Amino acid sequence: MALMITDECINCDVCEPECPNDAISAGDEIYVIDPNRCTECVGHYDEPQCVSVCPVDCIPHDPEHVESKSQLQLKYEQLMAKG
Ligand code: SF4
Ligand code: SF4
Repeated sequence: MALMITDECINCDVCEPECPNDAISAGDEIYVIDPNRCTECVGHYDEPQCVSVCPVDCIPHDPEHVESKSQLQLKYEQLMAKG
């Protein structure tokens, strides 16, 4: 399951450099996660790094992008193959 950033985001910019997949960027109003690049950190870390650092706890799972661990692992491998 990819993660998403809610409108509680305070644009602190702490999460963006922590993402190993470059999935986080500054959107028009708040930071956004590209669901095609978020692997929940599967392949890189045991825990989602953005969730660990977010000071306002505004990064839940995205119910519109439900994926199993093996699907996340496959996404990770495809991202790595693309470079
Ligand atoms: S869970 Fe990991 S891959 Fe997904 S946006 Fe957060 S830091 Fe990036
Ligand atoms: S760490 Fe949390 S509050 Fe800060 S930019 Fe990322 S999502 Fe927004």
